Amino acid sequence: MTSLFDSFHRQINYLRISVTDRCNLSCVYCSVDSVPHLPRSEILSYEEIRYVVRVAASMGINKVRITGGEPLLRSNLSELVWMLSQIEGIDDISLTSNGTLLSKHAVKLKEAGLKRVNVSLDTLKEDRFKRITGMDKLGEVLSGIKTAHLVGLRPLKINTVVLEGINDDELIDLARMSTSQGWHVRFIEFMPFRMTKAEALGTISAREIRERIRSLGKLEPYTGKAGNGPARYYRLPGARGTIGFISPVTEPFCHSCNRLRLTSDGQLRPCLQAEGEVNLKEPLRNGAGMDELRHLIQQAVTIKPERHHLTEGLALGGRPMCQIGG
Ligand code: SAM
Repeated sequence: MTSLFDSFHRQINYLRISVTDRCNLSCVYCSVDSVPHLPRSEILSYEEIRYVVRVAASMGINKVRITGGEPLLRSNLSELVWMLSQIEGIDDISLTSNGTLLSKHAVKLKEAGLKRVNVSLDTLKEDRFKRITGMDKLGEVLSGIKTAHLVGLRPLKINTVVLEGINDDELIDLARMSTSQGWHVRFIEFMPFRMTKAEALGTISAREIRERIRSLGKLEPYTGKAGNGPARYYRLPGARGTIGFISPVTEPFCHSCNRLRLTSDGQLRPCLQAEGEVNLKEPLRNGAGMDELRHLIQQAVTIKPERHHLTEGLALGGRPMCQIGG
């Protein structure tokens, strides 16, 4: 089995694929009104994505996550899941979704080979859900979570971005869901992306979030199956689920970053927070062979920076999150 290493001796084995820049929610911390959607012709086809993943798998990528925008807005997403599941070397296919369309698609996705799903959910209150996302769809998300769990898309993780003055009074209620519902709840530090409605908000640190939920009981460190990414997991006494903390701002995990991102328009991006990208779409559409693509993927790995610079107060500029793939 071939392995891929970057200039800082990190093994790269994980590819996040954004399949669309469109979303049916417009979250205050993510969505950017001023940037128009990409024309359909700029978005990679499923066949193009499959080709990139096949080449990447031959170099040592073994995990992929499908994201967006909202990936379930792309028609027949289960077809892409199936296509990727047939690629030799790919042994983990997961999805990040806002959950609004999960009820409708969970069975087909599971049958196609999807292993697990992360659902974004920042509040348990309907009016607040509308305030954060612009839409009245909390019920749909909750039923999507239920269906995904029922069909066996597990572990099912909930991603909660903690927003000062907006949902930080719900940390305890959300953490409690790890006990009452067995959810794996992950609190994510807010990253202040430029051009979003929330760009002026401060970040509440993972440490502070942890402190605030301490009243629920002692958080025992958890090293079981819940996580193999950047989250640190804990468990409340007696809980089936876990509580995770992801701290890109105050305790960056760049030293263990194992990922590349394929943007919806076919750019290979080695770091969420750095602007460098390698254009795969143009060579793909000009008939690039596997060796040429391998060379380009290697190039992206080589320019992967040692770390991001969020801690120095620099937020992501340029491309919005929905194009890059969160
Ligand atoms: N539509 C899907 C969803 O809602 O999960 C996938 C795309 S969304 C960009 C993926 C993840 O990005 C979300 O779970 C959210 O946690 C994260 N995200 C977006 N903007 C963020 C921000 N400003 N700070 C922290 N996380 C953010």
